[in-house]
Amino acid sequence: MKNLALILAFNALVAGATDASAKDADARPFALVVHGGSGTITRATITPEIEANFRGALERALKAGHAVLDAGGTSTDAVVATIKVFEDDPLFNAGKGAVFTSEGKNEMDASIMDGKTGLAGAVAGVTTAKNPITAARAVMDKTKHVMLTSAGADNFVAEQKLERADPAYFFTQHRWDQLQNAKKRDKIELDHDGKAGKADKASAAPAEPWESDYKYGTVGAVALDRHGNLAAGTSTGGLTNKLFGRVGDSPIIGAGTYADNATVAVSCTGTGEFFMRGLVAYDVAARMKYAKASMSDAVDQTVQASLVDKKGRGGIIALDAKGNVKFGFNTEGMYRGVIRNDGKPVTMVYKE
Ligand code: ASP
Repeated sequence: MKNLALILAFNALVAGATDASAKDADARPFALVVHGGSGTITRATITPEIEANFRGALERALKAGHAVLDAGGTSTDAVVATIKVFEDDPLFNAGKGAVFTSEGKNEMDASIMDGKTGLAGAVAGVTTAKNPITAARAVMDKTKHVMLTSAGADNFVAEQKLERADPAYFFTQHRWDQLQNAKKRDKIELDHDGKAGKADKASAAPAEPWESDYKYGTVGAVALDRHGNLAAGTSTGGLTNKLFGRVGDSPIIGAGTYADNATVAVSCTGTGEFFMRGLVAYDVAARMKYAKASMSDAVDQTVQASLVDKKGRGGIIALDAKGNVKFGFNTEGMYRGVIRNDGKPVTMVYKE
């Protein structure tokens, strides 16, 4: 009898503690930060209608992730839910709206990293996953590896019974037109290199042929959940007119994506080659970890060192375990946004 009373008292204590910690968790701040690509996004190049479409899409993605975080879900689940919304929207260069390679194919890259466990997953050159971020997540959760590529990644998508889509699903007219334009510029540039011997407007073409078409890019999300854990994810079709088999920074852990509870969660967008050479996402974390830089300084220093000084272009979103947010970019604009406990999405487009 005495034992029973003790057990009941103990159970009441445990129940009380659980209630209290559930309340604590409810009160804890969470945050979700997203980007939808960076580039030549100015009030002169973007119509109010396009701007409204992008802002609406950013809000939908933010709300999808918010629902997960608000319900006490994990930051990795929130990142996946958010990026799936972007991938299903033809506006963005990820999933449905992925750009075309020089061969007219869609080869997609995605990655995710869990800041609590340090585990990560990625796919590169995947062609059949409707939502490449779910494939990256499955690599993290279901294999001992970090990255699967090309045919192996596609086989894995089938084996895991992830939702698949055929090439027709990924066809969008505006991406196709972008490819044709990029190809035309390439040809003009070749002519201009001496074969035609005639100066023309193409002399104003940027050194990197994809650059001027490169406005609406990659998508990424970084999240802090109610449990204090960070996660980061990125998904892309890469660059218009990229060479077959080209892999960018987005699926490379440390280049396009990085998350560590002790420092920061980062997702990048921009000309991937610069982010790979500078290990940009990890560089932000390393400056915080070793040089004890603040997150804001770390992002600014990385943008300067890996983008501005090297003449690369792009942007970074960063979030720490206290919920601090930092955006850094050296392009004219970056589609971006943030949402916190109150569920009110805030979106930004230009340098504002
Ligand atoms: N970083 C991506 C890549 O190079 C492109 C982008 O951010 O739009 O593949």
